[in-house]
Amino acid sequence: MAFTNHEDATRYALAGKAILTMESERTGAHYTYQIEAHKKPKANGPSHFVSLLMGPNNEADYAYIGIIGGNVFRTTERSKLPYDSLPIVAFKWIWRHLTERHQLPPDCVIRHNGHCGKCGRRLTTPASIDLGIGPECAKKFSIEKPAKAKASNVTPIRNRPMLASGAGPVWFQ
Ligand SMILES: [Zn+2]
Repeated sequence: MAFTNHEDATRYALAGKAILTMESERTGAHYTYQIEAHKKPKANGPSHFVSLLMGPNNEADYAYIGIIGGNVFRTTERSKLPYDSLPIVAFKWIWRHLTERHQLPPDCVIRHNGHCGKCGRRLTTPASIDLGIGPECAKKFSIEKPAKAKASNVTPIRNRPMLASGAGPVWFQ
C-alpha cells in the first residue's frame, strides 16, 4: 500500500478518485488527502480538486484546500485552510517532489487508502492501512492499537515556521 516510486504515486494521485495518506517517518505525523478529477475540465483550468481529511469520518469529512492545474497545486479563495497551514505546506512540498523533482519526498511514506478486510470500511491511517484491518475490528482480533495510529490530521497545526533548514516542512522534523 506504500508507494515505492514517484511514477506510481503520481499516476495514482491523478487517477480521478484518489485517497492518499502522507506520513512523516521522522515524526509520525500524517495527513490524508482526496484528489478528485474535474468532471468537465476546461483548457488551462484545474484538472483536479484536492481536499483534506479533517474529521473522524474518512468517507465524508473532507475540506477543499486547492486545485491542481497543469500539474501544479495551488490554493484558491475557496480553500478552507490558510495557504501557510501545515497540511497545505506539506502537500505542496510533497507534490513538488513528485512532479518537479521526479522523486518520492525524503523521509515520507505515501500510501493509497485500503479497506478493512473484516467490515470493508475505508482505511486511511498508516497503521490501519498496513494492517488491512480498521481500529474497531482490530479490537475484535485482540490486536493492540499500534502506537502510530493516533490521527494527526484531525487538528492541523497552524502558524508554525514552515521550512526548516532546507529539509521538509516542520512536520518532518
Ligand atoms: Zn473493519
